[in-house]
Parts: sequence; C-alpha cells; structure tokens
Amino acid sequence: MFRVGGVADDDKLDKDQTRAVLRRAIRMAAPFRRTILAALGFVLLSTLGLLLGPVIVGYGIDNGIVANDRTVLRNAVLAYVVVVVIGYLAARQQYIFVNRAGEGFLQSLRVRTFDHIQKQSLGFFDRYQSGVLISRMTADIESMGELVQWGLLQLIAAVFLIVIALGLMLAMSWQLTIGALLVMPVIIIGSRKFQRDSNEAYLEVRERVGQNLSELQEGISGVRVIQAYAQEGQQTRQFVSSNRSLYRSHVRSIRVSTWYFGLVEAMGIFATAITIGVGGWLVGMDAIEIGTVVAFVLLLSQLFEPVQQLSQLYNTVQSSAAALDKLFTILDTQPEVEGGPLDLPERGELVVDGIGFAYPNTEASVLRDVTITVGDGERLALVGPTGAGKSTLAKLMARLYDPTVGAISFGGVDLRDATLDSLRQRVVVVPQEGFLFGGSIADNVRIAKAGATDDELREALDAIGALDRFEEFEDGIHTEVRERGSRLSAGERQLVSLARAALVDPAVLVLDEATSSLDPGTELIVEAALEKLMTGRTTIVVAHRLSTIRTADRIAVIDAGELAELGTHDELVAQGGRYAALSSAWQQSLPT
Ligand code: ADP
Repeated sequence: MFRVGGVADDDKLDKDQTRAVLRRAIRMAAPFRRTILAALGFVLLSTLGLLLGPVIVGYGIDNGIVANDRTVLRNAVLAYVVVVVIGYLAARQQYIFVNRAGEGFLQSLRVRTFDHIQKQSLGFFDRYQSGVLISRMTADIESMGELVQWGLLQLIAAVFLIVIALGLMLAMSWQLTIGALLVMPVIIIGSRKFQRDSNEAYLEVRERVGQNLSELQEGISGVRVIQAYAQEGQQTRQFVSSNRSLYRSHVRSIRVSTWYFGLVEAMGIFATAITIGVGGWLVGMDAIEIGTVVAFVLLLSQLFEPVQQLSQLYNTVQSSAAALDKLFTILDTQPEVEGGPLDLPERGELVVDGIGFAYPNTEASVLRDVTITVGDGERLALVGPTGAGKSTLAKLMARLYDPTVGAISFGGVDLRDATLDSLRQRVVVVPQEGFLFGGSIADNVRIAKAGATDDELREALDAIGALDRFEEFEDGIHTEVRERGSRLSAGERQLVSLARAALVDPAVLVLDEATSSLDPGTELIVEAALEKLMTGRTTIVVAHRLSTIRTADRIAVIDAGELAELGTHDELVAQGGRYAALSSAWQQSLPT
C-alpha cells in the first residue's frame, strides 16, 4: 500500500508534462466554473479590502490629522472600518467557495476513478495491485486536494495582491516604489534557490516517510515471525535507524524554509527602513506627504507574505501534478473487454475454436490451440494437473478475458460481438469462493440482479434447495452475513454464491469447483444445490471431485495448456491414456 523508495523518478515531471497535466485538470474542473468564478470574485474583493485599508489610513493622516479636518478624519475612519469589514467578510466567503469547488472537484474525480476501475477487465487487475489502486484513490487524490483547495487560492490571491499593491504604490509615489523594490533582486535569487532546495528536501522526506511506513507495516504484520525468532531488538534497531533518517530529512527541510522565510522577512524590514528613510527625506523636501509614507509602510507589510507563499506553491504544484499524472494514467486505460452490438441467442452451442491465450502481464502462453464444441445442455468437466490452464479456459469461455488467438462463440455469435448485458445474462461464472459483501443474505444474492424482489430471491434460493436452510435463521433471508460472510458457514457461503447464479438463470454455467472440502452434511446440501443448478443448462466445470467428473457428459483433459484428451468417461478409460490412469488411481483411493 505504501510507496516505498524510488519516489524521486516517478514523482517528478518535467515542465511540459506538468503543464499538460494541469491543463487537463483545469478542463476537468469546467463543471465548477461558476463556483470558481464566485470564489475569484471574493478573492478580488478581499484583496482590495486588504490594500485599500492602508491607502485610506494615508489619506486620513494627510487630510484629516495633518490638515486638522475632523470631518475628513471621521469619514476616513468610517471608510476604513467599512472597507476592512467587507474585505474580512469576502475572505470568509472566498474560503467557502474555494473549498466547495475543490471538494466538488475531488469528489467527482473519486467517483470517476472508482467507476472507471469497476469497469476494467480482469487484465487490469493483474497489472495493478489493489494496494496501488487504493493509494491512488486516497493519498494521491488527497495530495491533489492541497493544490485545488489551498494552492490555487493562494496563487490567485497572491498574484492579485502583488499586482494591485504595486499599482497602488506606483500611483502614490514612484520614487518610494523604486526604493522599496531595491530588495527585489535578493528576493528573486533567494526564491530560486529555495525552490530548488525545498523540492529536493521535500522529495527526500516523502521517500523516507514511505520507507518508514513500510517498515512499520512489516513490523506489525510480521510480528509473529519476528517474535518466533526473538528478533524484536533487531527490528527496533532497524526502525530507529530509518526514523533517524526521516528526522534528519525533516530537519533539513525545515532549515531550508527557515532560512528562506528569514531572508524574505529581513528584506521586508530593509524595504520598510528604506521607505521610512527615503520617505522622510522626500517629506522634508515637500515632494510627498507623511500619510503616503505610512500607507507605503502598511502596504509593504502586506506584500511580503504572498511572495513567500508563491515560492512554497511551487512544491505543491509539482507533487499534485505528479499525483494527477498517475491518476490520469489509470483513467486513460481502456477496458480490454468491451461489448459488441449483437445480443446472444437464448440457447446454442458454445464453440471454442483454435484458441491460444497469454495473460496480459506475461509472455508465456497459457493455452495453445484448444478446440472444443460444447453442445446445448451438455455438461463438460475440465480436469488436469494444477496450473494446466483449466481455470483460464473457463474464464475465456465466459469472456472474462479474450483469447489472443482464435475465437469463442455462443449460438453462432462471437462473444466479442455480443453486448455485455446479454453475455452476462447468458453465461454466468460461479467462482470457487464467491465474495460476500456486508449486508444480508438477500442483499448478497441480489448482487447478481439489482432490483430483484424478495420473492424472486426466495425462488432462486428455493431452486437450489437452500431456502429452508436460510429461513430457519432468526431473520430469515434478511440475516446479516457480517464482514465477508463470517456469520455463515463455508457451505452456506457457497449456497449464496450458487443462488446468485440461479437468480440470473443463464443458459451457460461456468463453475470453478471449490477444492476445499466441507463437512459431510453441508457437502451433501451443496452438491444437491449444484446438481439442481446445472440441470437443463450447458455447464463447464473445472472439476476436482470424482463425483462431479462422473456426472459429466464429456471430460476434457487439459495438460500444459493443451487439450490432451476429450470424450466420455467410458471412451477415455477405453483409450487408456492420462484420464484412464487418473481414474484408476481415484478408484483405488476410494473406500470400498
Ligand atoms: P489450473 O486452473 O489448471 O490450475 P490456471 O488456469 O489457474 O490453471 O493457470 C494456468 C497458468 O496460468 C499457471 O501457470 C498460472 O500461474 C498462470 N496464471 C493464472 N492466472 C494468472 C494471472 N492472472 N496472471 C498471470 N498468470 C496467471
């Protein structure tokens, strides 16, 4: 789950990449245009409030105090209060609007990503581990939150403020403005250095945090192994050392900031001193009035904070762009399995025609040149050693993946040309262990068909002979299954999984038989349920039990990715090949 080491490379984008990513993000923010515009309006208003204050003070001093005009003084004080209060209120509103736009954007991004992930084919999940996906949805989106909420606001407010303040200063006295700006070169050089150093320090901190977290995680989840070998001390020493590195890189990044903020503040003091010195001299020469000097000093005090903020923003933009980039990579992944235009017929033959297959993330082909025709209503058992490719073949028959070579069709329609709706309606896969979600038994069966009524659910459960068992529970089919179905026994969980398939009522069932055995009582119920479910349907079953194999119409022996033998039990036994050998081994192991 945690990003460990090697952060530097994929966390750094070059300028063009950063720009492209930000441009795309801005396009995505289009639906929030109004909120953003409102926020901008309030930003402008609050900045004006902040800057007009000093101007009014200057005016009040010159025309009210120095000129000894009480009315002007009173008006200036009133105007000051009004302007500052409006600025203050606007600042509150700006905060609300910026957050509304920001949170809205993040929320839509989260939903979009989730929806996109849900639609991906299985190949996608072979490539991305769930931990990585979760960290995209949480850490990366959060790091973007920093940008869209604080970063953008600060950027816009700072630019507004600097531009308007400079404009006001120039309008009041160009001499004083030049004097104050004498410190600018130092600030610019300092800011450049700060951006470089702090970016380095920031990346280092992130890398160390990642390392630290993964050590923490391993130390906790591996504690049993660690204690079994009495290695607690060693683990702690390792943790201490990685913590010390984290501490050092934190201190280093603080030192970089402190140094820079100190510089900017010192320059602020310098600029103020120059303003007062030069200003006093200009006042003595009657070139300007004293109120102008005061207004200048007050404006300067507003000017240096945004300069600091702008420099810090650089890092935020960098890390957010890196996070966005990773998210976009996911959003740009097209599902490999997409629906076609045709509806599958209600019934038909399932034809596997010369297929080959390799998993997307590997080179080695798992299946080679497999051809099988499964008749309507036929029961086909897939048998063979572990890793031979049985489950893979079953997944292809249900189009969880597409074959790399060849084609699979149902009722004459290539599965790739079928609509996904008709495909999932005709062909249902029952996995070895069906995942149970939090909720009731009914909710869990309903997963297969959203909107199914309780009666339909009961019918489906009854069709596999499982209704009575669940009706015995205190809350019947509305009994909560708890997390991952912990309230139910293993057999009952399988019944729920089978009931899902019964609810869809498909023409073709693809079963991956559970390898783990159940207690004999439950086993019988599950077997009976399976039998009922298979009756009248085309069934492909990855079989592990002799009883399942014996009830099959034909048996396909898969070995090392190839179809080794195909025929009925009797035919294959008569052939005297692999199946015959397996079968006689089974016979001998059975109790007589
Ligand atoms: P079986 O069901 O006969 O035990 P599988 O079809 O599960 O065999 O696996 C066949 C081969 O494909 C194995 O070598 C396995 O390691 C590989 N394999 C299975 N699933 C994946 C996957 N998602 N990604 C890459 N390789 C896989």
